[in-house]
Amino acid sequence: MRRALLILTLLTCACATLPRADLGVSPPELAQWRDGVNWPDAGQEAVRLLSGYLQVDTSNPPGNETLGAKYLAGLLEKEGIASEIVEFAPGRGSLIARLKGTGSEKPLCLLSHLDVVPAEAKNWQQPPFSGLVDAQGMIWGRGALDMKGMGLIETLTLIWLKRLHVPLKRDVILLAVADEEVDNRGMLFIVEKYWPQIDCSHVVNEGGMGIRDAMTPGQTIFAISVAEKGLLWLKMIAHGKAGHGSTPIPGRAPERLLKALDKIRARHPEAVWHDSTRETLAQVGHDVGGATGYVLTRPTLQNWLAESKLMANPGTAAAMTDTVNITGFGGANEPNVIPSEVWAHLDCRLLPGHKPADMLADLIKLVDDPNVRFEVLHQALANESPWDDPFYRALARHAVAGKPNAVAGPVLSPGFTDSLHLRPLGVRAYGFVPFATPQEDTGTMHGENERVSSENVRDGLRTLFSAVVDVTALPGK
Ligand SMILES: [Zn+2]
Repeated sequence: MRRALLILTLLTCACATLPRADLGVSPPELAQWRDGVNWPDAGQEAVRLLSGYLQVDTSNPPGNETLGAKYLAGLLEKEGIASEIVEFAPGRGSLIARLKGTGSEKPLCLLSHLDVVPAEAKNWQQPPFSGLVDAQGMIWGRGALDMKGMGLIETLTLIWLKRLHVPLKRDVILLAVADEEVDNRGMLFIVEKYWPQIDCSHVVNEGGMGIRDAMTPGQTIFAISVAEKGLLWLKMIAHGKAGHGSTPIPGRAPERLLKALDKIRARHPEAVWHDSTRETLAQVGHDVGGATGYVLTRPTLQNWLAESKLMANPGTAAAMTDTVNITGFGGANEPNVIPSEVWAHLDCRLLPGHKPADMLADLIKLVDDPNVRFEVLHQALANESPWDDPFYRALARHAVAGKPNAVAGPVLSPGFTDSLHLRPLGVRAYGFVPFATPQEDTGTMHGENERVSSENVRDGLRTLFSAVVDVTALPGK
C-alpha cells in the first residue's frame, strides 16, 4: 500500500509540468519604429564600423580604453549625439552618452566594456587587431564576441533611435566602460562618481548569448544570463620547518599543502538546481517535443534523467555547484631546499544564497590542519535579477523572432561581469549578446581566432534595437 502510494506520488510529481514561456507580444503601435530601418543596409554599416572598432587596440593590460571611447564618441558625434569620456586614470576612459526621454520610467542602460584581453598574434590565422572581413563575411579581431561586437550594436541602437527621431518614455543610456577584464575599475568609478545621473532600472550587458546546436542538432538556445555566481578568492598557505631536500621528513610545508589539496580535489558537492536551469530546459523541451520534451518539461524527471548529464558537462556543472578551482602554486625557490611556506591559489565560485564566509569555514574544516591557513584575496556575493520582466521578455522575444528551432531562456553564469556591481543598486541586469554562434566559437573568447559573422552583427543589431524600442519608445504622431 505504501509502495503504491509512493509510485502514485512520483507519478503525480512527474506530471507537474513547467509551461511554455509567455514572451508577450511587441506593442503593435511601435511597429513603425521597429520596421523603420533597412536592415541589410544597416547590417553592412555595422560590419564596417565594427571592423574599425576592432582595429583599436584596447588590450588590458594596459587598457588604453580612452582610444576605444573616442572611436565610439566619434560615431555618435556624427549623428549629433553628445557623449562624455570619464577617466579613472590617464588613458583609462569610459564613455557615457544619453538620449533623453520623457522620464515616465527610469532609464534603460546599454552596457559594454571597451577593454579586451591580450592576444598572442602568432597563434592567430588573422592579425587580432586587423578587423579583417573575410570572403565568408567573418569579422576577425580580439573583442568580436567579448565584447566590442555588442558595444558596437549598442552604439548603433542609440544612433538608430536618434536617426528615426523615436520619441522615448525613458532615457536610453550608452555606457562603455574600461577595465572589465582585470579589476572592474571603470564600472566601480562610474558607480562611485556618476551613478546618481545614471540610476537606470535595467541594464543589458554581456553574460549570455545564442549557442547553435547546444543540446540538440539544429536548435539554437539564446541564453540570457539573469544571475552570476559569487566568488571567494583564497591564498591557502601551508607552514612547516624548513630543511634539506635530501631527507624526507613528515609534516613539512609542501607535503601539508598537497594533503590539503587532495582533500579539496576529493570534494563532490551536491547539485543544486537554480530555477533558471529548470526554466531553460523546459523551454528546450517544449521546442523539441517527443520523449525528450516530456522529460525536460517536468522537474521531477529533470532531476532523475537530466542531472547526471548536466553534471558531466563542466559548464553546466559549474552552474549547479559551489566550485573550488586550484589555479596556481608558489613558494619553492630551490630544488634541494624544503621551504617553510608554500601556497596555492583557490578560486571558489558560489551559488546564489551561499556565503563566502560559510565556504571558508567549510574549507578550514575539510583541510583540518592548524598549519594550513587561508588569506581572503577577494570576495563577493552572487546576485540575480527576476526574469518575469518586460525587458527580459522583449530580449527573449526578439532573439527567437522569425527563427525556427530557436528558444530563449534564463541562465545562471558561473563567471561574473560588471552586472555583479549593479544588481545591489537595484538594477535588473540581463547578460545577453544577441549573436548565435556555434559552441566551438565561444572558446575563441579569451582564446585564439575570435571572430563574428556579418549575419550575427546584422541580426543582433535588429534584435537589440527591436527589444529596446519595445520598452522605451512612444508611438509616433
Ligand atoms: Zn567580456
